[in-house]
Amino acid sequence: MKKMKKSGVFYYLCVNNQITNIMYKNFKAHLEKELQDIKDAGLYKNERVIVTPQSSDIEVEGAKGEVLNFCANNYLGLADNSRLIEAAKKAMDNRGYGMSSVRFICGTQDLHKELEKSISDYFKTEDTILYAACFDANGGLFEPLFTEEDAIISDSLNHASIIDGVRLCKAKRFRYKNADMDDLERCLQEAKDCRFRIIATDGVFSMDGNVAPMDRICELAEKYDALVMVDESHSAGVVGKTGHGVAEQFDCYGKIDIFTGTLGKSFGGAMGGFTTGRKEIIDMLRQRSRPYLFSNSVAPSIVGASIEMFRMLGESDDLHSHLMENVEYFRTRMIEAGFDIKPTQSAICAVMLYDAKLSQDFAAEMQKEGIYVTGFYYPVVPKDQARIRVQLSAAHTREQLDKAIAAFISVGMRLGVLK
Ligand SMILES: *Cc1c(COP(=O)(O)O)cnc(C)c1O
Repeated sequence: MKKMKKSGVFYYLCVNNQITNIMYKNFKAHLEKELQDIKDAGLYKNERVIVTPQSSDIEVEGAKGEVLNFCANNYLGLADNSRLIEAAKKAMDNRGYGMSSVRFICGTQDLHKELEKSISDYFKTEDTILYAACFDANGGLFEPLFTEEDAIISDSLNHASIIDGVRLCKAKRFRYKNADMDDLERCLQEAKDCRFRIIATDGVFSMDGNVAPMDRICELAEKYDALVMVDESHSAGVVGKTGHGVAEQFDCYGKIDIFTGTLGKSFGGAMGGFTTGRKEIIDMLRQRSRPYLFSNSVAPSIVGASIEMFRMLGESDDLHSHLMENVEYFRTRMIEAGFDIKPTQSAICAVMLYDAKLSQDFAAEMQKEGIYVTGFYYPVVPKDQARIRVQLSAAHTREQLDKAIAAFISVGMRLGVLK
């Protein structure tokens, strides 16, 4: 009786499902085909499920024991920092769990203002506006500031969120080859009759790990009367003498009008983004930037921990200098071993393999050795430029680096990359 009832329910669900399938049939077939195409191209993304906090060593579902993590954006190793966890708990105790509002209605706490001040101090800017993510900061940046009379001049390797932000804006678009200053100058000349011009660039480009030449970008901006915007997501906490980003590295404080950045990489890794820069620009974003006006405030726990994070970075440069030591150690050893490395100007080290299949086989073999790295190939990087991207962290110990380098060498020998 019980069984029959169960199968009765099952039958009912099936019928229901079939009805849905009739309505859904064509679209489902269409999606299945597209998904199969993605799989056939070897581009289907699977998620790795981590069952520990994010760190330099993690445990992953389905893998035995610990694996060493070389593919997180956890540059300063703060993702599981105990002082930040305590600060997050304290903020939650004192300011609650969520805001249930956008900033200008009833979603601003004293903590949000304090964090915006911390960010302005860190980048030596006049004012800051927080967003739920840097994707939103970039998405909501251009449309409120520029119209069809203006020009946005964008590096060809800029992050997807800058590209989307530019698409949402009516300004004329110009694109220059990655970090190519002659090509940027060509764009500036072509855009000379526009009302306002803005150059937009990533600080560090995520595939090659190269830094945008901000000194020369600022010179050209001055020559052709353009504004400058830089996205510090991969550069803040990493480049510059004490890790304060590209303005510090190239000594161009006061010449960059707008910085955007994330709290989801070096700065603790939780989530949240920001735009920081000239006072009037930030003021206008507070009036008109859609992801700020129409999306929820960052949660108090993250805001409180982020304030503590900037306090920590202000007290000592140890994490940043340890990161730089790790980058230098890894890079030097890998070159000595005979690998072909892109000039590493950040915490991203691209180990060039050129061949797409080789990059996937290499990453899979590394995983068997207990090392997580990611293989990238076309269309994520140019054709015949396949590579393994290694991301270093202040959390990596010398022992962990040695283990990764040894695995690279042994896999490199096995796959004929090293002779
Ligand atoms: C990661 C990244 C972003 C997105 O940051 P989120 O805060 O995760 O949305 C934006 N721009 C660049 C250059 C990035 O690397």
